[in-house]
Order: sequence, then structure tokens, then C-alpha cells
Amino acid sequence: MVDISEIYGSMVFNEHTMRERLPKATYKQLMKTIKQGTPLDEDVANVVAHAMKEWAIEKGATHFTHWFQPLTGITSEKHDAFIDPTDDGRTIMTFSGKELIQGESDASSFPSGGLRATFEARGYTAWDPTSYAFIKDEVLCIPTAFCSYTGEALDKKTPLLRSMKAIEEQAHRVLELFGEGAERVTTTLGAEQEYFLISEKDYERRLDLVLTGRTLFGYSPCKGQELEEHYFGAIRPTVNNFMKELDDELWKLGVSAKTKHNEVAPAQHELAPIFAETNRGVDENLLTMEEMRLLASHYGLVCLQHEKPFESINGSGKHNNWSISAGHKNLLDPGENPMENLRFLVFLTGVIQAVDEYQELLRMSAASAGNDHRLGANEAPPAIVSIFLGDELGAVVEALIDDHDYTSADRVAMDLGVDVLPNFLKDNSDRNRTSPFAFTGNKFEFRMPGSAQNLSDANMVLNTAMAKSLKEFADQMEGKTGEEFEKAAIDYIKHTLRDHERIIFNGDGYSEEWPKEAARRGLANHRTTADALPCLVSQKSIDLFAEFGVLSETEVRSRYEVKLEKYNKIMNIEIRTMKRLVRRDYLPAINTFAADVARHITEVKAALPDADLHNQENRLRQLLDGLNEINIHLEKLHELHYASLAIADQQERANMNAHRIIPVMEDLRQAVDSMEIIVENKFWPVPTYNDILFYA
Ligand code: ADP
Ligand code: MG
Repeated sequence: MVDISEIYGSMVFNEHTMRERLPKATYKQLMKTIKQGTPLDEDVANVVAHAMKEWAIEKGATHFTHWFQPLTGITSEKHDAFIDPTDDGRTIMTFSGKELIQGESDASSFPSGGLRATFEARGYTAWDPTSYAFIKDEVLCIPTAFCSYTGEALDKKTPLLRSMKAIEEQAHRVLELFGEGAERVTTTLGAEQEYFLISEKDYERRLDLVLTGRTLFGYSPCKGQELEEHYFGAIRPTVNNFMKELDDELWKLGVSAKTKHNEVAPAQHELAPIFAETNRGVDENLLTMEEMRLLASHYGLVCLQHEKPFESINGSGKHNNWSISAGHKNLLDPGENPMENLRFLVFLTGVIQAVDEYQELLRMSAASAGNDHRLGANEAPPAIVSIFLGDELGAVVEALIDDHDYTSADRVAMDLGVDVLPNFLKDNSDRNRTSPFAFTGNKFEFRMPGSAQNLSDANMVLNTAMAKSLKEFADQMEGKTGEEFEKAAIDYIKHTLRDHERIIFNGDGYSEEWPKEAARRGLANHRTTADALPCLVSQKSIDLFAEFGVLSETEVRSRYEVKLEKYNKIMNIEIRTMKRLVRRDYLPAINTFAADVARHITEVKAALPDADLHNQENRLRQLLDGLNEINIHLEKLHELHYASLAIADQQERANMNAHRIIPVMEDLRQAVDSMEIIVENKFWPVPTYNDILFYA
């Protein structure tokens, strides 16, 4: 048994270590940089770098790296050794302040969406002191932002940090109206990560899993999740061991892995951390994902983080729990006295306005080829953004909209804004699992993002949209005080809620009526990534990001390009894998089995000329029909594939992929799957869902 308090954060250069290792003056200056964003001068950086290096070497590190998040979404690192050889053939170990603060990186192989022409290959990584450095595999990892030579963001972290600054500035203005402006405002993130674990042996035999992260073929298993025995069920011993090691490793890295359990689908699991400031929360989530993939191999397992590795059973999401805090106050907590209630209602109204106004951007932030297979299926929120408030808060908001007094569950009439609101934290029971954006007591849970995604995009959109709401409120309220302010604030809340009422939906998001009702309300329903991406480059979105200095128009456009290209590239890989598998594995297997059946018929006939062979003959016909059908769909897919590659415009190509090619891929899959269940087991070239999902 490990001593958790001993190992926790032991591989992190956190505040505790900084205080211990840095001269007092340096520590103070670094804290100012971390908490207030003041620039760090090189002398201080040198002292910090030295202390960091000494600490890292003691912990066994030999290299350092600027750890960053290019637009691919995953993390990148290039390792440099600390060594600096001396004239007499030995080495000293060096690491300068300059190396800590800035790194130069060949950016030409990272996607930039046209931002960085290949002749200008240089990109810079710049230290993000607000996220702690850590040691992973004997490498000191320094979280950094990644920019082009001309200063444009080439990564996911930079705009996220900018959006956190934007929301802080506007929240300060609002808080000042309540006489509480001074504290530091940050957004918080608790990222619940879902994943699958399957055996390495099965994985290796499935080229579709290896190349695309999901099964492109596979008939549904005889047993799915209908017995509801897996959710919170006893954890397999191997998986349990994996989870234990994962916890230990994450704790060393200061990632507060808190909750682990089996999820709804067979072989599916979840890990939830304790929330952190958003940029750290994102870093921690990326580290968690990386550790999961790495450690699974210690147990002969593979960790699947794709949103929909298996059809017919649940896919994996990443619930984005989001809140805003000022110092130790949670601004989405209703609070305990009338002024706190009013402040809460202002922030709540801001969220409702932001989510309604920028619903399409939020949907866009969760768009990916993988997540398209999940959103809208009866397991994940639909592609329509709406907000769930729960009975109690829903009633409060309704009372404000209809302009009548609120009567709480225990029948206490309240004049809003003067009396105390009920404590929502206590009554948190009416959970709605079908809502994409749900209030859960003192935070919102955005449930659209997929398990493979980097949550920076979602939080960047949320923060910026929220900054816009808060700005509007502050613009209208500044100059008002006391009762005049309170009255004006309540009026503001009421009319803003009335304007954005359509986004609130407390019903069943999985029902058939909801899309129709949502259409009546004028809510957007972008089913696929191809449909969801264009809003990113709409004037409205360009204006929003520009207003708060989160992304310039050039940066927005480059991101759109990168997302489109990524979608099309994934589609291309999936189509190629599909064709390859059908031609080289499935068709030959079905043919071989058909020949086997035919041989059997001939042999029996020879031995017993009047034998009744109609069952065998029917089976043979069924196989030949199946082969025929597969070939028809394969031909069609092949044609469309080449036609799509001839389309230069990436958006048009994406449209074709989403609307014309995917249906054919589904037909082809179905044709192969219907053969899977009649071809003799020993002829089938790959492990089936039954094999993969129900391992020992
Ligand atoms: P569930 O949604 O599964 O019932 P919880 O409500 O306990 O689970 O918490 C889910 C996640 O929300 C956890 O990761 C938790 O740390 C996070 N969370 C709790 N409070 C906040 C907050 N103020 N800001 C952001 N995330 C939070
Ligand atoms: Mg949750």
C-alpha cells in the first residue's frame, strides 16, 4: 500500500515545492506572475529554472520538454537533455531561465490552417506559469503555449488562457457592483473521463480499432447493456489493478483522481477528478488520458478513448463540469442571503443568455468525426443545445419570467431579490441525464464533448460567451448603487430571461418530440461536424472572439480550416480502412466459407444422391447474396471516395463525407455484419463484439 499523502504531488513543482525551494523574494515574484499575470523578468526566471532543475534531477529527471497542445488536440513534446559537456569530457547539468520561459520549435509539421507558411517553420513555446511543471518518465515537463513567429496562437491553450482573462475582467466589473471586486476570478473544470478497456490481443487483430479507434464492422453482441449489471458493478480484478496504478501515477502528478467506476456499457469505465482551475483542469485531463493509454499496456489491455468504439452500446463522453469562482466563492452557488442570491441570479442569467446566444458555437466546440456517432444517439445528449435547470431553479426562473412571486416547495412565498432562495445544493436529486447543459447544484455540466476531445475549445467558447453576457450587464448597471442597482438588476434579469427562455428545456432530450419542439423554438440542430463547423467563421463568432481578444479573425479562420481538414482526414482513413478490410479480410472469409458449404453439398450429394440439402443450399444462396450486396456497396463507396478526394473545397468535401458517404459506409457495414452472424466462427477473420466486450 502506498502512502497517498506521501506520493501526492511528489512529481509536481507545485506551490508547496516552490515555497520550499525558492528564495523568498523569487517565490513572491513568481506568485505574482501566477496569480496576477505580471511578466517575469529573466533574473527571476533563472533562479526558478535553477531550482526546478535541481528538484527534477533529484527526482531522476534527465531531460526537459516544453509540453504543449497543438491544434491536433493531443499533447506534444520534444525532449532536451540537461547536459552541457565540459572541455575535459565530462558534463554539467544546465537549464536556464531562457530555456524555461521560451522554446523554439519547428512548427512546420503541426497543423496551422494556413497560418504559418512552411517557409516560416519556426514556432515558439512560451511557459504557462499558471499550470505546474511536472516530471513524467524522467522528463521535466513545462506546460507551455505554442505560437507562430508572428504571434498567432497555434495551440489550444493560448485562447483558453485569453478567455479566462476575459471572463475575469468582466466578472470583476459585475462583482464590483456588489461591492466585492477585488478577488481573483477563475473558471473551474471537473472533467469526467469515460473510456473502454479491452484486451490487447483482440485489439491487435482489429485493424479498424488500431487505425481508427473504432470498430467499423461488428454485429451487436448477444448481450449488451440491457441487464444494467455493469454500471457501478464490481470491477474486474485486472481492471482494478489498472485503476489502482492509474490513481497512484496520477496522484504523483498532482492530478486529483477521485472517483472511478464501471460505466453503462460492458468494458466501459469512468474516472472523475476533483475540479481545478480550467487550464490546469485541461492539462490534468490530458495527462490522465495519456497515463490511461500507457498504463493499460502493463495489464495486457488497451484503453479506447474514441467516442464510439462499438455500435449498439453506449459511447464515451467527457462531461465538462464548469463553474466560476471568485477567491473561495463559487459564483454559481445560490448563496445564503438576498444579495448573494441576486448575484447568483445575475450570473445564472448570464449563463442562460450566453448558451442561447452562442448555442451553435458550443455545439461546434464538441464537433468531431468521432463524436458525430454519439451525439443524438439515445445515450448522449442530442446535437441540440438546451439548458436543464431542475424543478426548483426552473420554478424560480419561471416566476421571474412570468413576473409573479416564487413559491418554493415548502410553500414559502418569496419576493425575489429580497428574500432568500432555497438551497439548491441540498436538493440535487432531480438529475436529468438527457440534457446537454445541466445545472447541478452549483455548477453546470456540459455533456456534449466527446471522450477524445481536448476541452479547451468548449471552455474557451463558454468563457468568452459568458464574458459577453457579463459585459452587457456591467455596461448597463455601472453607475447605479443601492436600491436603484438592485431594482435595475432584477429588471435586467427578468427581461434577459424572457429573451432567452427558449433555451431552457426540462423535458426528455431523447424523446422524438424534442427535435420538433426545438425547431419550433428556433434552436439549432447541427447533426454532423460538417454542419456544425461553419458557424465558427460566421461574423457573429468572429466578432465575439475579437471583442474579447480571444482569437483574431485570422486565428478563427485557421482553426476552422484545421478542424475541417481533420474531419476529412479521419473520414478518408476510415473509408480506406473499410475498403481494405472488406477486400482483404471479409470478402475472402465469406468466399472461403461459401466454398466450404458448396464442397459439403457436393460431397454429401456424392455419398447420398437423394439427400435433402435444401438448408445447406439456402445457406449458400444467402452467402452469395450477401457477397453480392457487399460488392455493390463497396463499389459505391469506392466511387464516392474518389469523387470526394477530387473536391478541393474542404467544406464541400466534409458535406459529402457527412451526408453522402457515411450512409454508404453504414450500408456496407450492415451487409458485412449480417454475414458475420452466419459464417462459421473459425472462418471469421477478426474477434467479434462478444469476444471483445466480455473478456475475463
Ligand atoms: P456526477 O455529475 O457524476 O453526479 P459530481 O456532481 O459529484 O458527479 O461531480 C462531477 C464533477 O464535477 C467532479 O469532477 C467534480 O470535481 C466537478 N465539480 C464539482 N464542483 C465543481 C465546480 N465548482 N466547478 C467545476 N467542477 C466541479
Ligand atoms: Mg456527471
